[in-house]
Amino acid sequence: MTNLFQAERIDGKGFAANLVSRLADEVSTIKSKTGLTPGLAVVLVGEDPASSVYVNAKHRQTQEVGMNSFVHKLSAETTQAELMELLAQLNADPAVNGILVQLPLPAHLDANAVINAIDPDKDVDGFHILNAGRLATGQEALVPCTPLGCLMMLKDRLGSLQGKNAVVVGKSNIVGKPMAQLLMAENCTVTVAHSKTQDVPALCRTADILVVAVGRPEMVKGDWIKPGAVVIDVGINRIERDGRSRIVGDVAYAEAGHASAITPVPGGVGPMTIACLLANTVTAFHRQQNQKN
Ligand code: NDP
Repeated sequence: MTNLFQAERIDGKGFAANLVSRLADEVSTIKSKTGLTPGLAVVLVGEDPASSVYVNAKHRQTQEVGMNSFVHKLSAETTQAELMELLAQLNADPAVNGILVQLPLPAHLDANAVINAIDPDKDVDGFHILNAGRLATGQEALVPCTPLGCLMMLKDRLGSLQGKNAVVVGKSNIVGKPMAQLLMAENCTVTVAHSKTQDVPALCRTADILVVAVGRPEMVKGDWIKPGAVVIDVGINRIERDGRSRIVGDVAYAEAGHASAITPVPGGVGPMTIACLLANTVTAFHRQQNQKN
């Protein structure tokens, strides 16, 4: 395939910076109007290095938009009961509008039980079973941050998504499934592919919108992409190339020049995830205030 690279590079970093700046303005307005400061609590169990990096980034960015950040770092030996007790305290604390438990949890903890112990109205990761159900049934939900960011970028690029053929590759609870639900809510015709799907390339070629969240470096080749498609690459994969360690997505970016637009990795979906976490915390704050009034 001739491949003059004409695809627009969707600048997730710039998009996220814009969103964060708007959130900072909104937090400032909330403070002056209500005297209240929205707050996000993040719970980290154990010392997984990648998780620590994510938690530190969330803490810093929460403070940068003017919100309160409450970070709880617990030892890897924390029991289920101790974690549940902390979540009960955070659920009851009016200064805490959003709660996030950093995943993965150590193996002795029951992650589903932990997530479902968070007050669904404070569940800013959108992983609680009630928020998953609300999203699936078209009710007001807190929506998982990564697919929410993908949807924002798609709508910014395309306006209405109605009637588009969307293919989502990957069906995890945190990305693929909620992404498919969000696209269905926009009246796309959605197909979800996974590891047992027959002929993933042929399916991808039908997509006006192609979202890939698999975790396999550069799996989606150029000839899987329909000319003019918008491609959202969620994957984050560390590989060795030319003696250097580098991060690539799930899509062979250099082969995607005939797409109309594509998110790069890094600098595409990744930066939007924390920005959407902050947006969800502000959303949760407003909904909690409305419930009081
Ligand atoms: P999971 O491992 O939970 O899910 C991967 C999905 O890909 C599964 O549904 C799996 O199918 C499917 N899959 C695996 N191999 C194939 C294949 N050969 N063909 C088609 N489908 C396949 O991953 P996540 O959803 O958590 O994450 C996906 C990627 O996105 C990772 O690289 C992760 O690092 C990244 N990520 C990035 C974020 C960001 O902020 N940018 C946030 C979250 C994730 P099956 O269900 O059949 O096993």
